[in-house]
Amino acid sequence: MTEIDTATLQRLDAAHHLHPFNDNAALAKRGTRILTRGEGCYVWDAEGNQLLDAFAGLWCVNIGYGRRELGEAASRQMTQLAYYNSFFQCTTEPTVRLSAKLAELTPHDLNHAFFTNSGSEANDTILRLVRHFWAVQDQPEKNIFIGRHDGYHGSTVAGASLGGMKGMHKQGGLPIPGIVHIDPPYWFGDGGDMDEEAYGRHCAKRLEDKILELGPERVAAFIGEPVMGAIGVYIPPRNYWQEIERICRKYDVLLVADEVITGFGRTGEWFASQTFDFRPDVMTLAKGITSGYIPLGAVMFNDRVADVLSGRGGELAHGYTYSGHPVCAAVALENIRILQEEHIVETCRNNIGPYLGEKWKALAGHPLVGEARFLGMVGALELVPSKPSRTYFPDRGRVGQLCRDFALQNGLILRATNDAMLLSPPLVISRSQVDELAEKTWKALDMTAHALG
Ligand code: PLP
Repeated sequence: MTEIDTATLQRLDAAHHLHPFNDNAALAKRGTRILTRGEGCYVWDAEGNQLLDAFAGLWCVNIGYGRRELGEAASRQMTQLAYYNSFFQCTTEPTVRLSAKLAELTPHDLNHAFFTNSGSEANDTILRLVRHFWAVQDQPEKNIFIGRHDGYHGSTVAGASLGGMKGMHKQGGLPIPGIVHIDPPYWFGDGGDMDEEAYGRHCAKRLEDKILELGPERVAAFIGEPVMGAIGVYIPPRNYWQEIERICRKYDVLLVADEVITGFGRTGEWFASQTFDFRPDVMTLAKGITSGYIPLGAVMFNDRVADVLSGRGGELAHGYTYSGHPVCAAVALENIRILQEEHIVETCRNNIGPYLGEKWKALAGHPLVGEARFLGMVGALELVPSKPSRTYFPDRGRVGQLCRDFALQNGLILRATNDAMLLSPPLVISRSQVDELAEKTWKALDMTAHALG
């Protein structure tokens, strides 16, 4: 490729590239930041700025940037067999190996993998296959999905419908029929004076109430992120998921855990359903499955669901050209090998996670921070106008953006949702990088407070 300067790239970008989740007109005026290189927990932009990526790209670069082994695994597989599909009674070796590896890693009897290209497609897949599961058992009317307001399950039509983001529903006439939502656990917003256990029961009861309102014979499944990421890292009460599981079992409603963010170590266990000790029937995966090095998603089905789908389901009328792509599978296997052999998840649980948690929670001492949430390797700071009140700034989102921009000025990438600052660093972050992260976050908070006057 010929050299091309940054200003020209920005001009071409503004002219030809529509960015996801951006106000594209505002972005064109501001000029896109162009990232050029990554190593460990750092990325560099075209202006030469070094940035500590406390968000792991988009919650996904679990093993950090720049691991040559993944490139080499992709290159080997591309040279040997760049593509073959899993349609027509065929498949490839890495795809089979990855199915078996995922069956071994995921808890309980989630033993059967269906591959997609993304988390959104994984959630689309469950909408169709779970409805099919009930239909072939002569319960076609058991087809309603219950999700949660403010949940995020992706951007495809079904993914965005299963999610509960109002801004997304407004564009394109969503949700599609047959999907309803309940309120999520968000103690800072609506926990009132309830203690954790009472609040957990209270929030789980919203599911039972909704199932009874609809009639259990009409409810196919409940879907949720074990920790709600995109809306602001809402960490549920400890008993919430066990209560949810109890209710799902009582009414024979399938339980779907969207572990697209939480899978592969983010909460200090391989999967958040282990952290919260519950048994999903279906689990969706993406992101950390390849540490974001190449696109891949998967749905794990338990024995009960898979037995029906393959026993009575007939031909599965569902699949993607790239379902189980051998190059993506080879990269995923190499990523998992690194996570396992370097004991990355265990180090997070026993060492770096507790250290990061201590530093992150200490940020609650800043006058702007109303709550510091943290679990495993993921967290949020809720920025507030006055500390004890659990109230929000007017024009929600403005202060978060301000803080995010100040963090960037200081060489730190944090994400802002509303006025919450979100944390999800590569799992390989070191203690000195945690210190740098905490210091730079405090500085960004100070600069934000100063700008607010
Ligand atoms: N589910 C969750 C919980 C997510 O956070 C995301 C993306 O952030 C998705 C699904 C969608 O995944 P993808 O962007 O790979 O389609």
